[in-house]
Amino acid sequence: METEKLPIEDKRPFVKETNGMFHPPEELSRRGYIKGFAEYRRMYQESIERPEEFWGRQAEEHISWYRKWDKVLEWDFSRIGEIDAPFVQWFIGGKLNVSHNCLDRHLTTWRRNKAAIIWQGEDESQKRTLTYQQLHSEVNKFANVLRKHGIRKGDRVTIFMPMIPELPIAMLACTRIGAIHSVVFSAFSTQALTSRVQDSQSKAIITTDASFHGGRAVELKKKVDEALGDCPSVETVIVYKRAGVPIDMQPGRDFWWHEEMAAEDVKGFCEPEVMDAEDPLFILYTSGTTGKPKGIVHTTGGYLLHVTLSFKAIFDYKDEDIFWCSADIGWVTGHSYIVYGPLANGATSMMFESIPTFPEPDRFWKIIEDYKVNIFYTAPTALRALMRLGDDWPNKHDLTSLRVLGTVGEPINPEAWLWYHRTIGKERCVIVDTWWQTETGGVLITPLASAIPTKPGSASAPFFGVVPEVVRADGTPTEEDEAGSLVLTRPWPGMFRHMNNDVKNQLVKQVYFSTFPGKYYTGDACKVDEDGFLWLMGRNDDVINVSGHRLSTAEIEHALVGHHAVAEAAVVGFPHEVKGQGIYCYVTLRQ
Ligand code: AMP
Repeated sequence: METEKLPIEDKRPFVKETNGMFHPPEELSRRGYIKGFAEYRRMYQESIERPEEFWGRQAEEHISWYRKWDKVLEWDFSRIGEIDAPFVQWFIGGKLNVSHNCLDRHLTTWRRNKAAIIWQGEDESQKRTLTYQQLHSEVNKFANVLRKHGIRKGDRVTIFMPMIPELPIAMLACTRIGAIHSVVFSAFSTQALTSRVQDSQSKAIITTDASFHGGRAVELKKKVDEALGDCPSVETVIVYKRAGVPIDMQPGRDFWWHEEMAAEDVKGFCEPEVMDAEDPLFILYTSGTTGKPKGIVHTTGGYLLHVTLSFKAIFDYKDEDIFWCSADIGWVTGHSYIVYGPLANGATSMMFESIPTFPEPDRFWKIIEDYKVNIFYTAPTALRALMRLGDDWPNKHDLTSLRVLGTVGEPINPEAWLWYHRTIGKERCVIVDTWWQTETGGVLITPLASAIPTKPGSASAPFFGVVPEVVRADGTPTEEDEAGSLVLTRPWPGMFRHMNNDVKNQLVKQVYFSTFPGKYYTGDACKVDEDGFLWLMGRNDDVINVSGHRLSTAEIEHALVGHHAVAEAAVVGFPHEVKGQGIYCYVTLRQ
């Protein structure tokens, strides 16, 4: 297919390349939130030499507190599993509310009428914009609905919804009343939903009749109905009508979102619950080396600060920018960088309901052009898949609004990095390859768009307060360019605090703190090069990463042997050109 060159004048400065290293344009550093490498170094140094001073100052600058903390940090990585005490606490005694930080505090500024969420539905004609004022009003109403249904501080609420604005509305409404949300990825099976609801003992489920996926309607409420037989903790189900497909509604248990929201008694302000910095904020399930998904528990103060500061510093977000993270909110990336990080900064966050190739393979590029997206954050898998479809698709679109490009979820191969740089960024956008995990809450190893140079395939440098080490199996440090295990020696504010139902942190100890005692074991392989750049090299435990989605080999084996014909199963990953890794299953059948 021949496409004509677009007659577009591109005024963005070039990214400078010297000896395989790419430097942010000077103008970007000068105008940046972090003004160049020297400023990053100075701040990083302070964050590890005087963490309490550094994080205390950041917490005052970025978060609104009802009550200031008594102590910034207490931690002990050495006695985890022995006693029933937290292994890390941040901002002890501090009081705040996350929805107040993401919404109310913007209403007294000019941001009141700024777009908080811009939503693009799967159908191109379906679009919605919610200003901070409108989002505030929806969240308050839904928080009142939840309270009316008896949901109180500390109760768990499962949210099983596709990528529509009601998903962040439901999350923020939970945070407003102190309920702990557990978002379950809407493409998960009934079994996956059931086990997560059972583990979290949720009192309510919020869902939709169906979701749209690549032109198909997928029935979500049906999966909820199937799960509910085994989930006696659930008293209330609230259903948002997304597709208009027929569903069963059980009187007394199931309620329509639109009817609940229209009631007179839910209108108006909902007083936010005053939460302790260490009160749980959400549970998010992730796969580990053991068969069962782990309910990672994040708390309020440290998490919010980490995602707020990291969003601003890594992407160099400016108030006039449109930020688009293409992840699903069912994963931690969506929690931290579609919902909490952007909204706490008063940013405009895009949400997209569908997939990159629907209805055509240029959907991402079309959205960037249509909405003039300035910062785009996606996964290497998506880039590799789109790269294979040829440059004509992106070349049809004006992508000159872009300034910063991000990747997350898996290592990015240099070939995909360079394609992103040349074909999407036109050599004028900074690329931030961000390494982190569900457990870490926010990004930990990354370039900062305005301050840290990059090398294709390397996640560059530690974020503030993060002290990485790469070690051999015996715990000794590796040499330059020698692969080893990535460990973290100090806590960071967004660090998870528990695993759900894990008495005395026994599982936390076993999974994260026993391989290298006293240090957090990431499960990732890594090496450090001659310039001190960190290169993440994939998992070195029994976890495989397929299309940026973390899967446990044990969990897949468990599913296979659950079939009556299967005697034994073994699952391994293999290198896959597009997905990063693919799944190989060895199965022995019964006689
Ligand atoms: P999850 O908890 O599902 O976000 O998965 C976390 C895992 O994804 C990490 O342990 C890494 O193996 C992988 N990962 C995430 N981001 C990156 C990245 N930028 N580079 C390399 N691997 C990554």
